[in-house]
Amino acid sequence: MSLILSNKNKPKFSDQGCLMWYDGDSSDGSKKFWRCDKRKYGCKARIHTEGVTNRVVKRLNRHNHDESAAEVAAATIKNAAKRRAEDTQEQPSQIVNTTIRDAPPAVMGVLSKSALKQQIRRTRNRASVAPPNPHRLQDLDIPQPYRVYKPTPDTGCVLVSKTGN
Ligand SMILES: [Zn+2]
Repeated sequence: MSLILSNKNKPKFSDQGCLMWYDGDSSDGSKKFWRCDKRKYGCKARIHTEGVTNRVVKRLNRHNHDESAAEVAAATIKNAAKRRAEDTQEQPSQIVNTTIRDAPPAVMGVLSKSALKQQIRRTRNRASVAPPNPHRLQDLDIPQPYRVYKPTPDTGCVLVSKTGN
């Protein structure tokens, strides 16, 4: 099984139980290169995937360690938590509890709840488009994603609520 763990800055790819870090594209852009995340421990394993299908087309060098399914599972959980942080208004602790609910003990061994929470906060801070509170009514400019309109019979559209900070 292999899947892309979407992460805008550092995409990862799980291949045969090992996490691979994105290492660039081929010059014609048709392939992506990945290297094992255990490189700092001397693992020289690399793979090439097809740019469009993400199918593994080449495996170079053997891993010098056992696969770590727990780490792959932990990365998947982190990813799910980040997505929830972006897509929901849930409290960080609630997101953590939801995403780790079904995690086996081995996964919890490589995953830290507080690190997960911190990552959720960082994701939130980056995604935040909430403006500071205005001092005067004229300064009130609510960004589009925060506007909720409710049609009324006589006035047309009325802004009824504002979410966020
Ligand atoms: Zn490796």
